[in-house]
Amino acid sequence: MEQLPQLPFLLITVAIASAIAIYAAAASDGREKFLCADCRFNNDEDCLKAERPRAIACTSYRAADALAAIARTSNGVTE
Ligand code: SF4
Repeated sequence: MEQLPQLPFLLITVAIASAIAIYAAAASDGREKFLCADCRFNNDEDCLKAERPRAIACTSYRAADALAAIARTSNGVTE
């Protein structure tokens, strides 16, 4: 019974941690976004995965602008 005075502190700590976690999830840049949205394979010919267009994890993901960035750097253009 000696631990009872610590209970309010524990509840307040849990409430604050939960509020921070909920805020972070709601404000995250990745909220409601899928990898396929900016993947260069996001079309019927290049990707046959069942996850498309709502993949949240994919080992085949390649950024759509990656080729353009490589082409720019190989042409001597730097950002
Ligand atoms: S390769 Fe992966 S991320 Fe890209 S379109 Fe297909 S499922 Fe989506």
